[in-house]
Amino acid sequence: MNQFEFVQPSTAADAIGAGLTPGAAYLGAGTNLLDLMKGGIATPQKIVDITRLPGLEQIETLANGDVRIGALVRNADLAHDTAFSAQFPAVAEALLSGASPQLRNAATVGGNLLQRTRCRYFFDTAAACNKRVPDTGCDAHGGDNRSHAVLGWSEACIATHPSDFCVALAALDAIVEVEGPGGGREFPLVDLHRLPGSTPWEETILAQGDLVVAIRLPHASRAFSTHSRYIKVRERTSYAFALVSAAAALVIVDGKISRARLAFGGLAAKPWRAEAAEALLVGATPDRATFESAAKAALADAAPSGDNEYKIALAVRIAVRTLLRAAAGTPDRLPALPASPFAALAGEIHHD
Ligand code: SF4
Repeated sequence: MNQFEFVQPSTAADAIGAGLTPGAAYLGAGTNLLDLMKGGIATPQKIVDITRLPGLEQIETLANGDVRIGALVRNADLAHDTAFSAQFPAVAEALLSGASPQLRNAATVGGNLLQRTRCRYFFDTAAACNKRVPDTGCDAHGGDNRSHAVLGWSEACIATHPSDFCVALAALDAIVEVEGPGGGREFPLVDLHRLPGSTPWEETILAQGDLVVAIRLPHASRAFSTHSRYIKVRERTSYAFALVSAAAALVIVDGKISRARLAFGGLAAKPWRAEAAEALLVGATPDRATFESAAKAALADAAPSGDNEYKIALAVRIAVRTLLRAAAGTPDRLPALPASPFAALAGEIHHD
């Protein structure tokens, strides 16, 4: 049995002080960490319960119009906040695509960012896994790798990041706020997660003691509210991780795309922002031909890491479909129920 110390600080400063201990881990809802501990995958020496810290459970609009989401806000509470989902509908749709209702009721948004991969070999302590134990090998190579990465992978690791929420956040230029021993700092969410390279155990740019305190959506990203969607494809229609997902957001003026955002999940060790595709979309007519060109550009550098070549063609199709749905308009019902990839496309494309 793994022995650990358990502390419940009441201030962020005390939490960060405790979190600096080598082997310490922050505990929010524990929906990922406790599973990892039960499986012997994570063996923290100190658990720092952050659920008593003040001010981390609020969704607030700042003076500059940005929306700030405290790290302890529950996934379900954010998805069902009608003011939030009206401004950022693709984020709500992504949240409702994730996990199960019970997990969404418990899991925090901060924890969502930092959840670990669902690679089956990562969870099997009898398997070789560079991410779990550095420089021990990777049994996913030549193993069961249908769900693994096609972008940004390395010989050391071909795992994917499992979050849906992060994909929509990446598309909408979200910012992560962190408090650490050196004070506070912030950076784009797209910079939070690392690609595996030769050190797949280094999953984020966070250092020991760094505490994610909030996620911010810039006010400028509200411009996408009338044309944004999230679609997730998985092996069953609920409570499964994405094989491929996409978040698309558009601003359409006088029949042309004036701003575009596209990001993927299920393809890489981080949410994958497709900036080359976005550049192709700007100035173009929002039609299938445009979206097919952009989607192919987004996957131009993709390569199978095993039995997963199907993901590349699937990602192109899902990107096209998500862009078509975004162009057709955000549904009136908010938060939108997660979009089924199999439903017929909704009607005509409407322009602002
Ligand atoms: Fe471990 Fe990554 Fe290989 Fe999976 S793909 S076994 S997480 S090193």
